[in-house]
Amino acid sequence: IILSSSADTKFLAPMLSAQLKAGYVPNVVAAPESTSPFQVKRTVFSNKGFAITQLDTDVKIIGVSNNAFGSVENKTDTTVEDFAPELAEAAFATKSIEIDKVVGKATIADADIVVSGGRGLKGPENCGMIEELAEVLGAATACSKPVSDLGWRPHGEHVGQTGKPVASNLYIAIGISGAIQHLAGVSASKVKVVINTDPEAPFFKAADYGVVGDAFEVVPQLIEKLKEFKAQNA
Ligand SMILES: Cc1cc2nc3c(=O)[nH]c(=O)nc-3n(C[C@H](O)[C@H](O)[C@H](O)COP(=O)(O)OP(=O)(O)OC[C@H]3O[C@@H](n4cnc5c(N)ncnc54)[C@H](O)[C@@H]3O)c2cc1C
Repeated sequence: IILSSSADTKFLAPMLSAQLKAGYVPNVVAAPESTSPFQVKRTVFSNKGFAITQLDTDVKIIGVSNNAFGSVENKTDTTVEDFAPELAEAAFATKSIEIDKVVGKATIADADIVVSGGRGLKGPENCGMIEELAEVLGAATACSKPVSDLGWRPHGEHVGQTGKPVASNLYIAIGISGAIQHLAGVSASKVKVVINTDPEAPFFKAADYGVVGDAFEVVPQLIEKLKEFKAQNA
């Protein structure tokens, strides 16, 4: 069974694994190295290393890491069948009493774009530009650990080794130095953009695009240009 690595499948896979008595390997980044024995390559330690893991169960479940494979068009004729399972309340071992969900905002786990702020923002009063940029892009907001430790942003937004992992298509790091613990959590993002005044900031080595500049000048201009672009292409 091949699954993705969305927040939903990471929740589903362990339950399937227990139900089917199947071995489960998440964060798989390559096709199996061998099928007998069945061995797959996966990331470990917050994407800092790789491990080759062997599955010996009859049924095997792998969770493919986000952005590990490009999409390839494979034209086939398929029949789409309606699937409407009937599940009675009694079929569930647990019962949801209440669902408390953030609405109208992309979450870090599933966001296509993440806009993240670091200590270069200087203070909580300047986080508005991160929110505004995120709003224009339809992105989720995130931050470095010190920013949440200082209470500038909520703890749920802290990304990195000790925070949430990010595997978005675009990760924009604003005023973040790029410490190894931060990069460990964002390295699975497809395209990384950094805005930083210090050309020697380590993030530039890990980024696909970099702007050496003051966030307080660059970000408002970026917001303005994006708004113009959206208005012209609405
Ligand atoms: C065990 C352990 C676990 C950790 N886990 C995490 C983790 O999960 N996530 C995490 O983020 N950190 C983590 N850290 C902390 C990490 O080591 C760094 O200290 C932290 O990431 C630095 O945050 P920062 O980049 O926001 O701040 P800083 O390192 O202070 O960097 C601020 C950056 O902003 C730039 N800047 C300043 N002014 C401007 C401006 N006007 N415009 C643009 N740029 C500007 C500066 O040049 C600098 O590069 C961990 C540390 C330890 C020891």
